[in-house]
Amino acid sequence: MTGNFVTVKCNDCENEQSVFEKTATVVNCAVCGTTLATPTGGKAEIDHEVLETVEAR
Ligand SMILES: [Zn+2]
Repeated sequence: MTGNFVTVKCNDCENEQSVFEKTATVVNCAVCGTTLATPTGGKAEIDHEVLETVEAR
């Protein structure tokens, strides 16, 4: 499976974390535990600021 990684900045604690764009599981912030990404079956729903997209090669 291919997909991009995105760097997401947590709105709650400003932690920056890499998240797989098509994650199949809920991704929580490693620092405060808030939900960063919710799987939708395709591209994850991300309710936080996306700083950059790292394209897979
Ligand atoms: Zn956080």
